[in-house]
Amino acid sequence: MTSLAKGNDLTFSVHGLAVSRGIAIGRAVLVASSRADVAHYFVDADKTDLEITRVRTARNAVVEEITRLQQDLPKDAPHEISALLDVHLMLLQDDQLIGGVKKWITDRRYNAEWALTTQFEAIARQFDDMEDEYLRERKADLEQVVERILRRMKGMASPMQAMQPVAQAGASRKQSQQGLLLDDTVDVPLVLIAHDISPADMLQFKQSLFAGFATDVGGKTSHTAIVARSMDIPAVVGARSASQLIEQDDWVIIDGDAGILIVDPSPIILAEYGFKQRQGELERERLSRLKNTAAITLDNQRIELMANIELPGDTLGAVKAGAVGVGLFRSEFLFMGRAGKLPNEEEQYTAYRQAIEGMQGLPVTIRTVDIGSDKPLDRASDRMEKAQDTHLNPALGLRAIRWSLADPPMFLTQLRAILRAAARGQVNLLVPMLAHLSEIKQTLLLLDRARVQLDNQGIAYGPVRLGAMIEIPAAALTLKMFLKYFDFLSIGTNDLIQYTLAIDRADESVAHLYDPCHPAVLRLIADTIAECNAQGKGVSVCGEMAGDVAMTKLLLGLGLRSFSMHPSQILAVKQQILRADTAKLKPWAELVLGSEDPAAML
Ligand code: PEP
Ligand code: MG
Repeated sequence: MTSLAKGNDLTFSVHGLAVSRGIAIGRAVLVASSRADVAHYFVDADKTDLEITRVRTARNAVVEEITRLQQDLPKDAPHEISALLDVHLMLLQDDQLIGGVKKWITDRRYNAEWALTTQFEAIARQFDDMEDEYLRERKADLEQVVERILRRMKGMASPMQAMQPVAQAGASRKQSQQGLLLDDTVDVPLVLIAHDISPADMLQFKQSLFAGFATDVGGKTSHTAIVARSMDIPAVVGARSASQLIEQDDWVIIDGDAGILIVDPSPIILAEYGFKQRQGELERERLSRLKNTAAITLDNQRIELMANIELPGDTLGAVKAGAVGVGLFRSEFLFMGRAGKLPNEEEQYTAYRQAIEGMQGLPVTIRTVDIGSDKPLDRASDRMEKAQDTHLNPALGLRAIRWSLADPPMFLTQLRAILRAAARGQVNLLVPMLAHLSEIKQTLLLLDRARVQLDNQGIAYGPVRLGAMIEIPAAALTLKMFLKYFDFLSIGTNDLIQYTLAIDRADESVAHLYDPCHPAVLRLIADTIAECNAQGKGVSVCGEMAGDVAMTKLLLGLGLRSFSMHPSQILAVKQQILRADTAKLKPWAELVLGSEDPAAML
């Protein structure tokens, strides 16, 4: 933490990892990760009283419940139980709790649940700061009391819930800008601050209009960071104690280029960042003119720029950015945040078909489910939860194709849905995290079985090009075997770096060692591209490296002609391509590849 401003001793900065470019300036909304499933939305001005009544009614019901419990205690019950219930009653009736909740509802128009959890966090901080151990421990009691009120409120539908979707605070704000809901008092940009957010919860926030976001934990290529990048808003991860230092409603600048958060900025700093923000907007406007320009290098090489998507709706942005197809549809996002209930064949078929239709005839590469590691199915789901809890190295555990092969009925359901969708347009089927011949053979066997099942039911399906992801060094070192079985390869650099360097991509404490330019990583990438080119097989990079403009020329020099990235990165990469001459880059890339310190040559 560094103090920045002279004359304003409130200003301080927190450093993290730059994840998504740009500057956001707004008021902090703190969301505890454990409560990301609590509804977050704004309520209409004339509905705030109703929200306050909802909390009060729930609180009173809990008071009654505990009072009854206390009255019914057997005479010989230990004294501690009665004392504990006394503490709960006292906390429930403390003015600070409901008074604070009321304030969040009236001042900020938070819905009742959001206001309650926000006030809980504010009081919990005070408990944390207490010297007296007994008082510090009362935080757990407060948490239990708040959980009870939340449970009560679940049974009492808010009149606003029907109107405004969960976790779409920002979306409601858009309505306010159209004059439908809110007045100026709440119409300021909001930035999301959390200790951690799971990729599934992050996806919920994707629909919102948060201006930026920051988390304490996470690496640059953690899946939470990847979803944030796809939202195309300034973001910083690995900011260590940001969620402890920043308070609800603080003004925060998120500098997504430098990876810095500035809290309570002085007017001079605000003006400086306001200027930077406008410069960034101008740059984006300039880039947008490249949308319809073909991605062709100075020496006439046509480069394929495709999109990475998480949900079918993302195809809108992909087409808008001029993508020539989807190079990676991370299908696991259809599986997450559903309390372990997996999408059935129909549901998946509909989603894949929507993506195909969204791309208007361009190819769509659907990757089979990559659940596991930092992408658990759900906090509450049984199998993954256990796997996450009991296995110390989830990145090395039951993940991606290993998970699919461990559950053939689930995998067959997905394969049938993809094959059926392939009857509606060009589909490439991509398999993540393969390493073994046995895994390849089992996958192919199940694919055949899925076709037979569809034949038996008389259901139409289409042809697919079959691809494997190269994400494990073992795969990159056995390319010839892979190319015997697959039509194309897609290099998942996020995992290839993780597994080559033994660096957990989601762990900010080793983020400084996560090096895309390590000679070993570059060697594996170069060999994969060269082998595919030599055999006339398709090869692309779909990891975050593909969207990093600092890497574009090197990848072109290594012979890569197909890139897949978030739509928001396409135009900046295209600009690099238009200025590149691959004939000149080739010998230079050889030199980089042979260097001890490739990063110094970029
Ligand atoms: C990768 O590993 O590079 C990749 C694209 O897959 P994911 O980021 O989803 O693991
Ligand atoms: Mg991967």
